[in-house]
Amino acid sequence: MIPYGRQDISDEDIAAVVAVLRSDYLTQGPMVPRFEAAVAAHVGAAHAVAVNSATSALHIACMALGLGPGDVLWTVPTTFVASANCALYCGAAVDFVDIDPVTWTMCPRALAAKLDRAAAEGRLPKVIVPVHLCGQSADMAEIGRLARAYGVKVVEDASHSIGATHEGRPVGDCRHSDICVFSFHPVKIITTAEGGLATTQDARLARAMDLARSHGITRDAAEMTHAPDGPWYYQQIALGYNYRMTELQAALGLSQMARLDQFVARRRDLAARYDRMLGNLPLTRPAPAADVQSAWHLYVVRVDAGRHRAVFEALRADGIGVNLHYIPVHTQPYYRAMGFAPGQFPNAERYYAEAISIPLYAGLTDTDQERVVAALERALA
Ligand SMILES: *Cc1c(COP(=O)(O)O)cnc(C)c1O
Repeated sequence: MIPYGRQDISDEDIAAVVAVLRSDYLTQGPMVPRFEAAVAAHVGAAHAVAVNSATSALHIACMALGLGPGDVLWTVPTTFVASANCALYCGAAVDFVDIDPVTWTMCPRALAAKLDRAAAEGRLPKVIVPVHLCGQSADMAEIGRLARAYGVKVVEDASHSIGATHEGRPVGDCRHSDICVFSFHPVKIITTAEGGLATTQDARLARAMDLARSHGITRDAAEMTHAPDGPWYYQQIALGYNYRMTELQAALGLSQMARLDQFVARRRDLAARYDRMLGNLPLTRPAPAADVQSAWHLYVVRVDAGRHRAVFEALRADGIGVNLHYIPVHTQPYYRAMGFAPGQFPNAERYYAEAISIPLYAGLTDTDQERVVAALERALA
């Protein structure tokens, strides 16, 4: 079976992890700050906070922005459930903005209309979470402009998009947002096994996320309510969690960062090959916006809804490990129990009825890619 995605681990990656195992620190040592500095430098952010998953990063981002009971967070239905669940962790409510039918990311026109209504009703969201589906960037210039106009905070879910650029600048520099979140799950662009990271240009938000990932505990006398009792002293000044990334994960991440550009270049090359090879098939190919250079986490094709399931099953039967990203979050039972229902976000639901993620990862060979195309040709014949 050719999987839809998989990690690429080199001998250097393995050596980097083994070196940590032989070192003094398995956690809370020098590797996490080094990994954070490498990501921050690559994406042009002043601050980076590494944690044990992007889900945790989304949670501490919402905490740092003060999201709480009585507040609302808006995201898109076409995402992994974590983009919405982070609001519920904070005791806030969730609502959704439909996707654009062409780019499949948050539709700025739908957002503008919904913000206008919400402002009139006095129910503006506190935070919006656009999702950079498949390795793109959402239309952050327009989303950021709307958010500033309405006084709403923005967290980019860039779990798919480390290495992407928008307007010629790296995703993660937060020029249109408050915080940007990356995932390092093995299917993503680079991996730390499990892991995530939040970038920001705002030192206060970075410090709040730093506290939230480690119990809300400080060892900085300047942050304490009184002078330290002694050299052993720390104070808990907020409620935090243990969301820390280990030294092993950070060492793997740092080693992977050295190959990020290479991974993304190969993914772009494979995506361009798919574009050429699939040109004559009855399917819709991805269409990132002109000012976006996608990192190509996923290559999604859309086929006729009437044949979707049969095509998907034929590909699986043919040894192609296709997948579907994503089931609209508002149709999940947990969200339906809050009152959401099918029919509310038609673009996301139509996308779900047609989308198939075909194999794309840095280690995919040209020959395997040709097998995928041949299987698609058979399935669509
Ligand atoms: C993978 C992913 C997440 C969650 O990432 P983890 O690191 O597995 O917690 C969140 N949002 C999106 C869009 C993702 O693809």
